[in-house]
Amino acid sequence: MTRHLPTLSRSALAAECLHWLTLEHDESTGEAAARGTRIHAAVAALLDPRAPRATCDEQATAEAIATALRSLGAVPQGVELTFALDPLETRVATLGQHLGRDYSSAPEGWWVGTADDAWLAADGVVEVADVKTGRRENVEPAATNKQLRSLALAACGVYGASEARVHLVFADGTVDSAELDEMTLAGHAALLRGLERRRRAGLTAPQPGTHCREMYCPARAACQVTTLAVAEVLPALVGAVGSPVTSVEDATARVLRLRTVADAWKRAEEAEDAALRAWVQENGPVPLGNGKERALVTATRETVQWTEEQKAAAREAGQVKVSTYETWKDRKVGR
Ligand code: SF4
Repeated sequence: MTRHLPTLSRSALAAECLHWLTLEHDESTGEAAARGTRIHAAVAALLDPRAPRATCDEQATAEAIATALRSLGAVPQGVELTFALDPLETRVATLGQHLGRDYSSAPEGWWVGTADDAWLAADGVVEVADVKTGRRENVEPAATNKQLRSLALAACGVYGASEARVHLVFADGTVDSAELDEMTLAGHAALLRGLERRRRAGLTAPQPGTHCREMYCPARAACQVTTLAVAEVLPALVGAVGSPVTSVEDATARVLRLRTVADAWKRAEEAEDAALRAWVQENGPVPLGNGKERALVTATRETVQWTEEQKAAAREAGQVKVSTYETWKDRKVGR
């Protein structure tokens, strides 16, 4: 069990809630995070000959990302470069490259973070690129992305620059870019300073919200809010499930309640899953009392990476089946 360091990559979550920084919890990650780590390692190996050798089962994705990074001007010296930043004094340092998230050399109280690539462009502007392999709709755009602002702030300090261009590079090789001027970076430095002051003052009460799930809070399984939310929300459903909707107000209230229940339930499930995994890793499978036991096993998944040409050929050959279905979508009123 470890306590989290304040990281530049989680500065958006820190702006919403500092409680996770006070909790001790297991660092083990889920499949989506493990997939992201594998792709990141393969991309680093493609860009920097000094990086640890790595390929992954989604090598075509890694190559598309590496191509996008090269077209932005990414350099080997900036691949997987780790920064440390003292938010109170806005001092910065580099801790090294390819550290594999080993932040043990960071000075106490400094925020740490690794850029997938960070470099100084010929026009004196810092460039920071971050690779996103998860769901795109959960990623804050480059123009307002706090993780990129934090990394850009640190990189500007290291390279002696005052402006930055930041880039989000997605798994399909597309890029979302933005420019950050001196004023924006100064405002972000003030935000981090305020967060660090609150953290040191112990003003870290839990602040639950959609960010718990959407920003992948690493402490969800350990956070008391998980169990409290379930206890609060589930009784509200008793007697109401499936009854006819009576008005617009009732419909709106029920959509919002259902969303809260789904979020609370998901967090409860994750907390239970984490607790059971920890127990099974130590004690072995759980007997179910019906001649079966629940065990943790290693499964293998095979995925096929299609090029655009292959997709087009498959469509032309009638090998792509298209079906429509009804689903929910929150969209702007009037569309
Ligand atoms: S689960 Fe939510 S409330 Fe709890 S520590 Fe994480 S972000 Fe904060």
